Amino acid sequence: MDTVRRVVHDVAIVGAGFGGLGMAIRLKQQGTDFVLIERGEDVGGTWWANSYPGCQCDIPSNLYSFSFARNPDWDRAYPMRDQILEYLRDCAVRFGVLPHTRLSCELLGARWVADEQRWELETSTGPLAARVLVAAPGLLSEPSTPSLPGLERFQGRAFHTAEWDHSDDLSGKRVALLGAGATAVQVVPEIQPRLRKLHLFQRTPPWVIPHMDHPVHHEMRDLYRRIPLLQRLSRGLIYALRESQAVGITRDRRWLKGQELNARLHLRRQVPDPELRRRLTPDYEIFCKRIVLSNGWYPAIQAPNVDIVSSGVSEVREHSVVDGDGVEREIDTLIFATGFKPAELPIAERIRGRDGRSLAEVWEGSPQAYLGTTVTGYPNLLFFYGPNLNLGHSSIVYMLESQIAYALDALHTMRLRGAAEFDVRPEVQAAYNEEVQERLATSVWNTGGCGSWYFDRNGKNSIQWPGFTFEYRRRTRRFDAESYRLAPAA
Ligand SMILES: Cc1cc2nc3c(=O)[nH]c(=O)nc-3n(C[C@H](O)[C@H](O)[C@H](O)COP(=O)(O)OP(=O)(O)OC[C@H]3O[C@@H](n4cnc5c(N)ncnc54)[C@H](O)[C@@H]3O)c2cc1C
Repeated sequence: MDTVRRVVHDVAIVGAGFGGLGMAIRLKQQGTDFVLIERGEDVGGTWWANSYPGCQCDIPSNLYSFSFARNPDWDRAYPMRDQILEYLRDCAVRFGVLPHTRLSCELLGARWVADEQRWELETSTGPLAARVLVAAPGLLSEPSTPSLPGLERFQGRAFHTAEWDHSDDLSGKRVALLGAGATAVQVVPEIQPRLRKLHLFQRTPPWVIPHMDHPVHHEMRDLYRRIPLLQRLSRGLIYALRESQAVGITRDRRWLKGQELNARLHLRRQVPDPELRRRLTPDYEIFCKRIVLSNGWYPAIQAPNVDIVSSGVSEVREHSVVDGDGVEREIDTLIFATGFKPAELPIAERIRGRDGRSLAEVWEGSPQAYLGTTVTGYPNLLFFYGPNLNLGHSSIVYMLESQIAYALDALHTMRLRGAAEFDVRPEVQAAYNEEVQERLATSVWNTGGCGSWYFDRNGKNSIQWPGFTFEYRRRTRRFDAESYRLAPAA
């Protein structure tokens, strides 16, 4: 990339999901100059990309939304994907960020230009420059597909749930679906009734609890519209209940026993066959992997057209899959409900800091940042939904809003102190990460007896936040300039 003279934006934001859009809205309200780029054809992030049947948020609607953009119109207690997407599109229009947004524009490279104290960006639609870079690429935005022997020979359709192929509704088809996590649990009850056969490749069964979803009737929505305080109270109550689960996850396992009993009773009620029940009972502690909510999963997987296969896939052939026991199963379609690659985001290969090295080179498979947001050697970079900020119990939007507040205060501090550059002190970042890892060491994720996507290729939990969300909010309420090296304009 050549360093050329061009308009230098105050802020460039990458990604138009909850994180990027939320930041853009706040900057717009403040009158700060910014540009927002998004590689997808629309705003929405996760909720634009994931259009698979049954896609739904497992945090109640009244909590899973921006605190500054209340929505009295949620028509379900837990929002479906289409309504979240509609909400985000509406926010983008309502708060006037679309004129600053470039869709179908991918960040290909970003490098810190020390002399100019700015970021030079290379995008799929041309170069950009900005003083501050907000990377909001999402944690669950890069689909992970296992490399199965013979996959390239497969003649049928094969796709990941995050790239759902809507060209055929699968009626009468023989399908192999890989995975048994939150996505599989949402998809399977939706598609199973219309399939000829479903081969469900499930290595470890999930803990499943009853879903409390229900329609929100228009009388209630009217009430929310007329008395906004009611919806705020509901939000507060949901928040408090959710937060109490963090006690069990990170401090005292006894708090999780109630949910385990709930899950066991659900299984007993819905699966009469004791042998099948045994196969469907997880052998790890509840909450070790994300728990899933469903009333339709167990009935669907007991249907006569469903085979549960626990031995994995050993090979894919032109029109079939072969399981780990050597049994060949003819199929038309192969669906990967195999999750994402949170610790190996391609954007980390594209952002180069002070010494020219990419984040991926510095992280070597184990992402690390101070408060999950700033990285030593990467001045004026704010990374959203970064290392160790994922949750097992509450809304990511809450964490993102904490990061947005921190980022805004960083900009404010720069203005106030006449600084052109901030860079987190290495010892601050190191101490923070040591603390996080120490706290995670006793969490249910690290010791609950399961393998999960919370662990990176080096076996380190670089994904989960080890505490209450209000603690994170407290720690990000103010940009702690003393943790940074601030530099004036050169
Ligand atoms: C199926 C599914 C269900 C989920 N359910 C829940 C839930 O119940 N509760 C919860 O709290 N969270 C849930 N999440 C997590 C969810 O991702 C977050 O809640 C939230 O949407 C994250 O917002 P974000 O803006 O950080 O990231 P995203 O919504 O992922 O948006 C990131 C955007 O960045 C763009 N991008 C990435 N790289 C580039 C690049 N190089 N150039 C340009 N653009 C780029 C992507 O295209 C994407 O649009 C779920 C995620 C998935 C996938």
